[in-house]
Amino acid sequence: MARLVMKFGGTSMADLERIRRSSALVASEVSRGHQVAVVVSAMAGKTNELVTWTDGACRPSGEGGYDGEYSDDEYDVVVASGEQVTSGLMAMTLRSMGVKALSMMGWQVPILTSDIHAKARINDIPPDNILMAFSQGQVVIIPGFQGVTEGGRLTTLGRGGSDTSAVAVAAAIEAERCDIYTDVDGVYTTDPRIESKARRLKKIAFEEMLEMASLGAKVLQTRSVELAMAKRVRVRVLSSFVEPEALNVPEDQLGTLVCDEDEIVEKHIVSGVAFSRDEAKITLLGLPNRIGVSAAIFGKLSAAHINVDMIVQSEAKDGEYANQLFTVGRRDAASAMELMRQAQDELGFSELRLDEGVSKVSIVGVGMRSHTGVAETMFRALSEKGINIQVISTSEIKVSVLIDEAYTELAVRALHAAYGLDRIDS
Ligand code: ASP
Ligand code: MG
Repeated sequence: MARLVMKFGGTSMADLERIRRSSALVASEVSRGHQVAVVVSAMAGKTNELVTWTDGACRPSGEGGYDGEYSDDEYDVVVASGEQVTSGLMAMTLRSMGVKALSMMGWQVPILTSDIHAKARINDIPPDNILMAFSQGQVVIIPGFQGVTEGGRLTTLGRGGSDTSAVAVAAAIEAERCDIYTDVDGVYTTDPRIESKARRLKKIAFEEMLEMASLGAKVLQTRSVELAMAKRVRVRVLSSFVEPEALNVPEDQLGTLVCDEDEIVEKHIVSGVAFSRDEAKITLLGLPNRIGVSAAIFGKLSAAHINVDMIVQSEAKDGEYANQLFTVGRRDAASAMELMRQAQDELGFSELRLDEGVSKVSIVGVGMRSHTGVAETMFRALSEKGINIQVISTSEIKVSVLIDEAYTELAVRALHAAYGLDRIDS
């Protein structure tokens, strides 16, 4: 007997028929003698609808959007409701199948969070109520995405937050695994819509998944992977479209297991190719080469909460000048440009440029730590396709390059082949 968390996303809870199918998967695990806590999302599309209503209530004229300044706490009350509906419906469905089940809202568990409404962080989940229900043979159904402050006010964890709820519950009850049921059957070596030869990975290390998630692979919310890594919660990503009997196989035969590197026997040097088109490149030319210029530039950006990704600085004219280049997300490009323009006199650069036609392509793999020549293979594969590299950045387990956006797909396919990812056994 094991203790499991099963999390169902919006498509797996989209209507009563889907809820019935998801419930059958829960019943299947229960019949194998497992203790199960289920974490659910709202029906697909529901949270968006609720968000639109909050916009409408704050700005009846329709102009502008939801104003967080005075109603963040009530925004949470509205948008958390979608998960309350699906938890109750799943508990009812399970009971109709003869499975003992009980819903527990965020405040009943309780899932204690900070009081930063709309993007609260989980502080603690006392496991006692869940464990008590387990001891009575109940399946516990918990709405994802919501929590409660110490003061008893309802909170939500930010969009996509129910993945994080599930991992946090798994950590709290020391579950053997947190199964995330979704509309894809695992984590792939790259986006199968771009490279049809993409392969499902049987296992991926926490660190790799974290890079893949933050580089734009949207299977899991990035924060949930951070939490899983910190708490060592083994997470499996799998499709909710499988038949209940299909769960009757060893855990690594289905979906993708996100786990500790030590659990992975067949290590790949590179496990995945990720890409992001949400990139804008800003260049400042002819900066005076003096101490504190970079601090001034990035101080302004961080004060405006603009996230900077890649940074390159180089000296020009024998060190008389410096050129500075950095990338930001496209939605921040206009404000970053405006900040730089306003500071032109202070910073003293001669020219400012914006290029939004760029994308970032990255290779990720823990095997990079122990192998040489990994970056060289990447650069050669790109040059053979005539792709110019504009910026390079690296971490211990990742190499990213900034290229002309038009070549994104070509680059992804070239790298996928260069590391033999189309041949891995899955
Ligand atoms: N329902 C919430 C959302 O759509 C939370 C989640 O599903 O993860 O963002
Ligand atoms: Mg999700």
